[in-house]
Amino acid sequence: MSKVPTITLNNGVEMPRLGFGVWQVPDDEAVRAVGTAIEAGYRSIDTAAVYENETGTGQAIAASGVPRGELFVTTKLWNSDQGYDAALRAFDASLARLGTDYVDLYLIHWPVPQRDRYVETWRAFEKILAEGRARAIGVSNFLPEHLDRLVGESSVVPAVNQIELHPQFQQAASRAAHQRHGVVTEAWSPLGQGKGLLTVPAVATVARKHDRTPAQVVLRWHLQTGNVVIPKSVTPSRIRENIDVFGFELDDDDLAAFAALDEGRRLGPDPAAFG
Ligand code: NDP
Repeated sequence: MSKVPTITLNNGVEMPRLGFGVWQVPDDEAVRAVGTAIEAGYRSIDTAAVYENETGTGQAIAASGVPRGELFVTTKLWNSDQGYDAALRAFDASLARLGTDYVDLYLIHWPVPQRDRYVETWRAFEKILAEGRARAIGVSNFLPEHLDRLVGESSVVPAVNQIELHPQFQQAASRAAHQRHGVVTEAWSPLGQGKGLLTVPAVATVARKHDRTPAQVVLRWHLQTGNVVIPKSVTPSRIRENIDVFGFELDDDDLAAFAALDEGRRLGPDPAAFG
């Protein structure tokens, strides 16, 4: 079984470099998928209130037999719950659905800049952190301008920014901003949602060279680029395949081939407008 290395967040908390994403997994299926993932060696699970599968995720965690302290659970605050009081209420509801009394990481899901409530929302996150009900707090889909503002107007720097990132959308500017602020980059849709990316000839060539699958070399690229990754699958063989990425390394030629794949095009919404 793979032992996943960790990265140290800016408040000293250790986060697994690879976790399991559950977006678009129905609640009842999440029980099975998260159970399979934990059995396969995943210790980090990424859910969100809006995924409507916190309950199934929590059931799988409880049933796994793995001590809660060995797991790293992330959930996210949905856009309509931004604001100080609403965020505190939404956090309580997430904890209740997860059946746990703390999360390891709580994220603001989107900045929703047109509503301008993320700084106020962050005050609630700071309170949750101070109470020990989240071991770390962070953001998701924040552009560098949102991150700069939040850091300028708050006392706690986000531990993580979870953003769309894959070889066809490499996000150099965001990664540089994260580095400047000491924020860990977490890649969502790390496999490009399992679509075109995995059939790109250059990816297939690197995969053949290492006798690995396209998904495995893509995940390896993320890890060697410094990203935390959270691939999603409901397919048991893929769940196992996606964590089996710690026994080989891409070389400089492989990394150069990946560097050439950046198209600067999003699969998901633009954070400047979404929400
Ligand atoms: P991924 O890039 O993880 O791709 C998932 C897709 O790829 C699924 O269709 C899956 O199919 C397929 N797949 C998985 N493994 C393999 C493999 N080894 N070979 C071939 N196909 C494979 O996409 P997601 O968008 O799900 O992103 C991952 C996670 O990131 C989400 O689950 C969620 O936790 C998070 N996320 C966060 C967002 C945010 O706004 N903060 C937005 C989007 C995602 P199948 O399941 O059928 O096996």
